[in-house]
Amino acid sequence: MLPWPLKLWRNVVDARLLDILVCPLCKGPLEYDKKAQELTCRPDRLAYPIRDGIPIMWADQARKVEPTL
Ligand SMILES: [Zn+2]
Repeated sequence: MLPWPLKLWRNVVDARLLDILVCPLCKGPLEYDKKAQELTCRPDRLAYPIRDGIPIMWADQARKVEPTL
C-alpha cells in the first residue's frame, strides 16, 4: 500500500515545474504537453523535451512546432 499515489505525486511535481519554468528565449509561460512529454512555447513555436522527468531547457534541444496548432 502506497502512502501517496505515485500518479498524484507526479501531478504535483508537474504543476510545480510549470510554476517555475518559463521559456529561456522569451521568458513567457510554457504549455505542458503530457502525451508528448514536452513543454511548448507558442510564441517561439518551440517544444522543449522532458527526459526522465527533467525538462531540457535549451533552445538547440528544442523541437520546432508546426504553426498550425
Ligand atoms: Zn518563448
